[in-house]
Amino acid sequence: MLGEEGTPFQGFFDDNTLVMLLVEPESGQIIAANPAAARFYGYPVERLSRLRISDINTADPAHTRAARMRAVRKEANAFEFQHRRSDGELRDVEVFATPVRDGPRTLLLSIIHDSTARKQAERALQASEERLRAAGEIVYDRIYRWDPGSDQIEWLDRGSRAPGGPIAEVPVGVADWMSMIHPDDHEGARHAWERRRHSSETFEHEYRIRSGDGSYRHWLDRSSPLVDDAGPPFAWVGGCTDVTERKRSDEKLRLAATVFTSAQEGIVITDRHANIIDVNDAFTRITGYTRDEALGRNPRFLSSGRQGRDFYETMWRSLHERGFWLGELWNRHKDGTLFAELLSISSVRGDNGDIQNYVALLTDVTEQKAYKERLEHIAYHDSLTNLPNRALLSDRLHQAIAQARRHATTVAVVYLDLDGFKEVNDGFGHDVGDRLLIEIAGRLQNALREEDTVARLGGDEFVVVLVGLPDPGACADLLPRLLAAATRPLRVDDQVHEISASLGVTFYPQPDPVDPDQLLRQADQAMYQAKLDGKNRFHLFDAEQDRNVRGQVERLGQIRAALQSREFVLHYQPKVNMRTGEVVGAEALIRWPQGSGGMRQPADFLPLVENHLLAATLGEWVLETALTQVESWKAMGLHVPVSVNVSGCHLQQTDFIDRLRRMLQTHPAVDPADLTIEILETTALMDLAHVSSIIQQGKQLGVVFALDDFGTGYSSLSYLKSLPAGQLKIDRSFVRDMLDDRDDLAILEGIMGLAAAFRREAIAEGVETAEHGELLLQLGCELAQGFFIGRPMSADDFVQWVDSWQPPPGWRRQHPIQTADLPLVFALVEHRAWVNEFDELVTGNGRAELPVGADECHFGKWFRGEGEERYGARSEYEEIRTLHNRVHQVAEQLLGAYSEGRHDESLARLGELHDLREMMTMHLRYLVQAVGQPDR
Ligand code: C2E
Ligand code: CA
Ligand code: CA
Repeated sequence: MLGEEGTPFQGFFDDNTLVMLLVEPESGQIIAANPAAARFYGYPVERLSRLRISDINTADPAHTRAARMRAVRKEANAFEFQHRRSDGELRDVEVFATPVRDGPRTLLLSIIHDSTARKQAERALQASEERLRAAGEIVYDRIYRWDPGSDQIEWLDRGSRAPGGPIAEVPVGVADWMSMIHPDDHEGARHAWERRRHSSETFEHEYRIRSGDGSYRHWLDRSSPLVDDAGPPFAWVGGCTDVTERKRSDEKLRLAATVFTSAQEGIVITDRHANIIDVNDAFTRITGYTRDEALGRNPRFLSSGRQGRDFYETMWRSLHERGFWLGELWNRHKDGTLFAELLSISSVRGDNGDIQNYVALLTDVTEQKAYKERLEHIAYHDSLTNLPNRALLSDRLHQAIAQARRHATTVAVVYLDLDGFKEVNDGFGHDVGDRLLIEIAGRLQNALREEDTVARLGGDEFVVVLVGLPDPGACADLLPRLLAAATRPLRVDDQVHEISASLGVTFYPQPDPVDPDQLLRQADQAMYQAKLDGKNRFHLFDAEQDRNVRGQVERLGQIRAALQSREFVLHYQPKVNMRTGEVVGAEALIRWPQGSGGMRQPADFLPLVENHLLAATLGEWVLETALTQVESWKAMGLHVPVSVNVSGCHLQQTDFIDRLRRMLQTHPAVDPADLTIEILETTALMDLAHVSSIIQQGKQLGVVFALDDFGTGYSSLSYLKSLPAGQLKIDRSFVRDMLDDRDDLAILEGIMGLAAAFRREAIAEGVETAEHGELLLQLGCELAQGFFIGRPMSADDFVQWVDSWQPPPGWRRQHPIQTADLPLVFALVEHRAWVNEFDELVTGNGRAELPVGADECHFGKWFRGEGEERYGARSEYEEIRTLHNRVHQVAEQLLGAYSEGRHDESLARLGELHDLREMMTMHLRYLVQAVGQPDR
């Protein structure tokens, strides 16, 4: 920390003759005190640095705290307080407080100046005025008559005026009177009394007399004798005046006089026109001018010219309005040197309220000022390179932004980090490292313009602020200059070091509002990218990309929060055996219900967590929830195995199997075989060895595995062999198009072949129509899932669905067709595909070379060749022929209309063509079914 041993600060602090405290501004805790402070306060240093300001400051702690906070914000730096020493003595002090940085925190360095003497002088001055006022009012307070013969005292007033309070009792005889007089004054009083018995001279004497509250008042007793003949006075009449206050004033006046002459502060008293009427010795010492030289002059003869008119105007306004001004200014010594003084001026007003005098107290603070400046330098500069530090950089950045806004210019913020510095530092020692940094700092400064700032953040990190650029492009030649400055070889002790720098650059203004901290972060981020890109280069910060990343971080946060507040739910989509109608399980699919009543689909948010650890957390939740669901269905008497989709990232977790095992243990009611884990085929292929080992281990737990979206990853035979998953889920894209796309049908058929060869179970996704199901059954695929069977639904809905679901009757009749009959199925698809293509041709999206003649299409060729041969004898065959010819007839007419520009007509007849297509399909399906009958 700041005051730590060995730091330059410590010497400055400890050896200083000024009283200094280092204070934590919020709490007022004293962090450190210097020996001068210990002497001043009368505490040992260790004791003092455990106190709080409230222990020594007499003011309200809230008030002193507010003062500290103002000092931290630099709204004020000088304060007046009273501090208590260890022996209880109060001292008036002026406190100069400067914020200093200590790592992340801000402390206050307080310099305490004892101003008791000055304060006393000020007070005394005021008191003397009061005394003058009092003096004008001297009249008798009490009047008495004393009869020496009878020794009786008679009071002539009514006792109404007794300024110092009434005396203890009203004496009626001299003995009474004497008993009320202060013992120390007895002697004199008795003596005086005796003298009056014989003398006839006017008589005056002073004594202290006990008042009603037990304290003594000073009385001035003036009496005159009453005489008739030549004899002694027969009576005396006396007047007593309470002079207690006056005595006190006298005392003070005497003190004031001493203070005036002996004060350390220079004191100047002027008349109301500000002409000097008196100065003290200290004034001469500070300014070099003697009393005679100063008298009669206006203090402005000391002026240094450093302060402008405004300065003096504010000073005078404050004096007139508040009667007081305190501040620092530069004046000129008689020998011509400038000195900084702390000046406090008070105006002294007379009875009528007009200003009569000004009293100024001045302290030479030149040295203090130098200290302060030095302190500020320490606080704002890096001690090694003397470059601005982070704190000053922040100031400069604020200024740069303000300036750019005013003048519509651009600021470039460059974050510079040396490459390979650590190696030099570690390899050659810190000393060499330090010298490198100093050298680089100098080079960077030289590479820049006067108005730019280069700051050191610490380590080998620098920040450059380029201001007043007309546009971002304008720093195009400055950046290479900076790079070059760092790259030029450096020689230290005959050793040449080659290092380089990575620069990250960002600009102000940006489309979105940015603050200095953000700019620094952006530049830092860009610098990091420059490092990643291979160092010794600069990288410009990309706001667009940053926004995306930021958005992503934000959305990830939302997902994490949703997970925590259990917002997600699982829906279940039935998996059935289409032929038997049996419900073989359900696939768990995640959903994110929205407050609006809507439901976010996985495609909407899962891609975000992909490749992110959150995917594993989410995956665990899915597994856990699905297992719990199996349990509760089981409790209802419903046996539903579930499939759960597991993402690649989740699967990659090294403890995936361990956690799965533990999870299964916490659900003992669930048979592990009732859990299927679906792994995307593409994921499996990406890390074949790992995934197959996971599957291997999972299978030992009894869990079933499926390769999801199968067909999209193009597994070859050899891959499939090494992936021991029991199930292949045929991707729904192939199922969707198998009725219209020959290739998809071929893939589907291929997958069925693979499944059979490797003894894997195939299950089809995306069964959206009864026809899909039929065709799948014909191809030998009995297991399926799809909207036509059941959409993903809540667990409750699922129970009802199981109760009511019936497969369409057509499915029960379907049988797998023989390989020899497969071409028939393909022919059907060819035909549909052809009609679809024709559609596109007429609507203007198709390809021109579509064969239109009845003999030219794929179907036609098969029909007349292979088909005729195998099925020509069947009665259905002729009907199909007629239909097919009709299809092409209509198509030709349609195309004719189209090519002659009668587009509307051609479009209108498309419906006719579609009807024919459907009739063909029906007949062909019928044929397929007929040939598939086992009893054929
Ligand atoms: P998937 O594993 O292929 O899941 C089947 C998707 O196909 C589901 O979409 C389902 O609603 C949809 N689908 C089912 N039958 C049909 C149909 O007949 N026609 C059409 N067009 N679509 C059908 P969903 O629920 O939107 O899920 C999309 C994908 O998100 C899933 O594809 C799966 O990869 C992933 N996913 C869903 N839930 C989870 C989960 O809990 N964890 C993981 N890791 N992934 C999940
Ligand atoms: Ca799936
Ligand atoms: Ca799928």
